[in-house]
Amino acid sequence: MTVRTRIAPSPTGDPHVGTAYIALFNLCFARQHGGQFILRIEDTDRLRSTAESEQMILDSLRWLGLEWDEGPDVGGPHGPYRQSERGDIYAEYARQLLDAGHAFKCYRTSEELDALREERKAAGLHLALKPDDLALPEEEVARREREGWPHVVRMKVPAVGTCVVEDMLRGTIEVDWAQVDAQILLKSDGMPTYHLANVVDDHLMGITHVLRGEEWINSAPKHQLLYEYFGWPMPALCHMPLLRNPDKSKLSKRKNPTSINYYRRMGFLPQAVANYLGRMGWSMPDEREKFTLDEMMAHFDIQRVSLGGPVFDLQKLTWLNGLYIREDLDDDALLEALKEWAFNESYVREILPQVRPRVETLSEVMPLAGHFFSGLPAIDEQSFGQVKLEREPLLKLLQFLVWRFEGVPTWNKEALLGEVKALSAHFELKMKDFLAPVFIAITGSPSSTSVMDAMAILGSDMTRARLRHAIEVLGGVSKKQTKRFEKAYREL
Ligand code: GLU
Repeated sequence: MTVRTRIAPSPTGDPHVGTAYIALFNLCFARQHGGQFILRIEDTDRLRSTAESEQMILDSLRWLGLEWDEGPDVGGPHGPYRQSERGDIYAEYARQLLDAGHAFKCYRTSEELDALREERKAAGLHLALKPDDLALPEEEVARREREGWPHVVRMKVPAVGTCVVEDMLRGTIEVDWAQVDAQILLKSDGMPTYHLANVVDDHLMGITHVLRGEEWINSAPKHQLLYEYFGWPMPALCHMPLLRNPDKSKLSKRKNPTSINYYRRMGFLPQAVANYLGRMGWSMPDEREKFTLDEMMAHFDIQRVSLGGPVFDLQKLTWLNGLYIREDLDDDALLEALKEWAFNESYVREILPQVRPRVETLSEVMPLAGHFFSGLPAIDEQSFGQVKLEREPLLKLLQFLVWRFEGVPTWNKEALLGEVKALSAHFELKMKDFLAPVFIAITGSPSSTSVMDAMAILGSDMTRARLRHAIEVLGGVSKKQTKRFEKAYREL
């Protein structure tokens, strides 16, 4: 058997470090067994999936040196590798399940579903809705069908009993069927859900081992049952521990930068980031902390993954990165790294229009535009001395901006201007006054190049990181304040 693993990211946002971590372990597992590693894009959520996000995921995995054998950009014998291009395949398999009586059409309206759930809640039962709960009298089904009501296709699931799933790291996992609902397989628009598409694709693409985040454990019983219904062998499952913040909470962008783009912008080296991700729950047999991707592949052993939540610690990563710069990069390599990072023609060209109108000699360029070539600016509370806002509205302004920026789908000056205009109106501030603290947060000084252009050029991750950094140096937002801000933000 040829081992085939895959990573199946959904292109719905920034390229997450968690995606890279799972990709790395899948790649190492496949390579160590002389197998193949596949990249598949799970873009069945049409509203949230974007081409930009897909491109960023491919770029950042490649930047880390994680190469795939088959994928949407490199092709392969099992394509297409984008689920949005495989609609007919899923419809056909859903039909097979319907014909075999393993699935059913469900014409229930969302109001009816809410009512059913309320009833179960009141009776102190699991909220999972079973085929029997969802059933309608035959005439009613016929009527709704005749009248063309929207419907979904759901899988049948046992009402009682225990589902036993084997996990490569966790051993036997038991799940009470009572907790598992009659999962939707095809949505009313005919698109598959994750569950159907994932199982069908893993089978058709010959995947033998599924290494994925532990957040998918609860889906395993449904997947296992689907494999049984289809009569297909199931890939071995391995649920990897989730990455955590140093306080052990789940790694989230609220507490730590989670986008690979951020680490790239900050000037981390790809080999250091890949090495650090390899330390997440795994260690080399000799416990050394610094190792290359090739060394990791050569020594990889999935059984050495420990389930205690691995902590993604920025300080440790920074330390490791420093080791790479000092120990591995000679002058030529360091020069190359700097070029690839920011001292390259395309990036410098973006900055020229910002500096040309503002300098008289070339030597003024770096002092003026240094913020384009740095990480978090050296600012403190006093830096905001000239800003005519009390602390609370100032923090609120910065926090609201971070939240608004999180939702900007296409990062460009126009989109940012829209956000800034909307918020300055909300705060009843002139644009200039609204932007004053933003200016300091982003450029680190009270006068520099245009802040709107700077944010557009620096990108979403660095912009948000600098705004968050400003919030921190201003004393941070307390839990109570966060609650107040969230409430006000919802009412925007
Ligand atoms: N699309 C899922 C994700 O975004 C894939 C989960 C899996 O690997 O089964 O993580």
